[in-house]
Amino acid sequence: MNGRRFLSIGECMVELSQAGDGLLRKGFAGDTFNTAWYARACLGPDWSVDYFTALGDDAMSDEMAAFIAGAGIGTNLIRRIKGKTPGLYMINLKNGERSFSYWRDSSAARSLAADPDHLREAVESAEVIYFSGITLAILPQEDAATLLSEIRRAKAAGKLVVFDPNIRPRLWSSYDVMHTTISEGARSSVLVMPSFDDEAAHFGDDSIEATIHRYRALGALDIVVKNGADGVNLNFGGEETFVPAERVKKVVDTTSAGDSFNGAFLARYLESQDAPAAARFAAGVAARVVSEHGALVAREKLGLSGR
Ligand code: ADP
Repeated sequence: MNGRRFLSIGECMVELSQAGDGLLRKGFAGDTFNTAWYARACLGPDWSVDYFTALGDDAMSDEMAAFIAGAGIGTNLIRRIKGKTPGLYMINLKNGERSFSYWRDSSAARSLAADPDHLREAVESAEVIYFSGITLAILPQEDAATLLSEIRRAKAAGKLVVFDPNIRPRLWSSYDVMHTTISEGARSSVLVMPSFDDEAAHFGDDSIEATIHRYRALGALDIVVKNGADGVNLNFGGEETFVPAERVKKVVDTTSAGDSFNGAFLARYLESQDAPAAARFAAGVAARVVSEHGALVAREKLGLSGR
């Protein structure tokens, strides 16, 4: 392992998208994996980026693991579960509108926190730990509690724990469980990176300040509120800054805008400790991501030359 490890925890899925003539194109994506991808693309060689999930023992799990490794992301911490398969989703296109169908109810990733010793070792091996509301939503409740307890331990040990609430109501059994568990995720973290439209819709925040205030009151120290084309508001240790989004000529596909922003932001922040500069850099990366199709935009298209 290289000197410093960034560990992202969650579910990567098989993605099927329309390729014309009724054909489907296969890819791999998932919020925490996308962020690991962009963190890897933007971080220097003294950092290793690892993905923590569970996969099955079928050919598709092998292919996904090879894809993750091919992106330069560590796969040694991925558990393999006999008889299981990865989750899958399909992007449907009707009159230019996208909708998603999911097959993830019994995916291997749901067992990612089922081995507490393995989880603890992985978290202990990392300096930065990244997870999301989707990570928590897919776990059985007792496993979500196990993960949160390891996350709290990491925070207490002075690690940078980063949480994106990524609120997806249909993954949760009830609004109550969703509110309580996401709030617990934020309370257990150092840095929280919500998207304002989700927070307004599902936590009833009537302003960005309300979102910042709610997460600070829970115990998060630093907050980055993403607000699409309207930029981001940072609150680091109580100090507020606004960073505008970059102007984009033509928005092609906003999939992974927030995930790419998070990965690029964290990469730059870890190297500079300068949150506003990291947000400006991440706005540039996210602007390129929304100008291209798909969740994962190749490094060469991200304008990272010179690094
Ligand atoms: P999420 O995908 O989590 O909802 P946002 O929509 O807030 O996240 O987008 C995250 C970041 O992506 C924004 O902070 C901004 O930098 C960039 N972004 C998103 N939409 C646009 C857009 N239309 N024009 C320029 N940048 C955008």
